Amino acid sequence: MIANPVPWPNGARCAVAFTFDMDADSILHLAHHTSADTRLAAMSMLRYGPEIAVPRLVEIYKRFGMHQTFFLPAWCMERYPAAVEAILQGGHEIAHHGYLHEHPNELPSEEELYWLQRGIDVFVTMTGERPRGFRAPTYKFSRHTLTHLVNEGFVYDASLMGDDVPYLLENATGCVVELPSHYALDDWPHFMASRDFNYFMSIKPPRQAMEVYAAEFDAMWEYGGLWIAVWHPFLSGRLARCVAIAELIEYMHKKGQVWFARLDEIASYVLQLTQAGTWAPRVDRLPYYPGPIPELGEAEPTLAR
Ligand SMILES: [Zn+2]
Repeated sequence: MIANPVPWPNGARCAVAFTFDMDADSILHLAHHTSADTRLAAMSMLRYGPEIAVPRLVEIYKRFGMHQTFFLPAWCMERYPAAVEAILQGGHEIAHHGYLHEHPNELPSEEELYWLQRGIDVFVTMTGERPRGFRAPTYKFSRHTLTHLVNEGFVYDASLMGDDVPYLLENATGCVVELPSHYALDDWPHFMASRDFNYFMSIKPPRQAMEVYAAEFDAMWEYGGLWIAVWHPFLSGRLARCVAIAELIEYMHKKGQVWFARLDEIASYVLQLTQAGTWAPRVDRLPYYPGPIPELGEAEPTLAR
């Protein structure tokens, strides 16, 4: 079912990474710059992430002896240093998720680079290290993102959805490892409901959402894939959902032969296999198209109607 399954370490059947994007209220300021300060209910829902959920998640991981990856907009690191400290003390990785959750593919290349570098500066100041991984806010990876990531020394990206196993993103500048996920493993479709974002999903019972995640896990386990949850502390870190997450982790542990890892560990492992010639990842050359496809031409407005 997977053409090129990864020889995961120690005979593991699949790799598992619970990644949390701690967006906090960055997304509210970005969506409603001039009125975010007046939207106190939305603000409180989002602040629940760093203040209540992150310490809880770190505690759950500790219980299971797991080290995982958190993606943080750098502005959130500056605003919520206690959450940063709790994550680092738990032995987890913090990776780059924009400065204020800005959308790279809606910015000119030089502005995208400005925010990327401004975020890196925060990482260096607060953690003493440059980030190794990046996830584009709202998956909005641009035509220029790969070049900027290569030039800034990133090892991996986790924004795209092009495979069930790691692969490489390459252009004339260089390459990074892509650690893909999918909307099925995101928590917005299961749990997000907010008038301030004009986004209403019918909220799933936690165990029903876990059925989707568990089905994805079972398939990855069977065929040698990579399971990456793209979750948010303000959504999946709520109490009943955390109870269900702990049950899911228990299920995975009981099934066995699972490699729980941080994304930087998975990316390093992939590079190690590649360099040793043990396994060759598929390569996607970016961008996929040099511009809009020519076939539509002037017909586009008619077709779009
Ligand atoms: Zn985000």
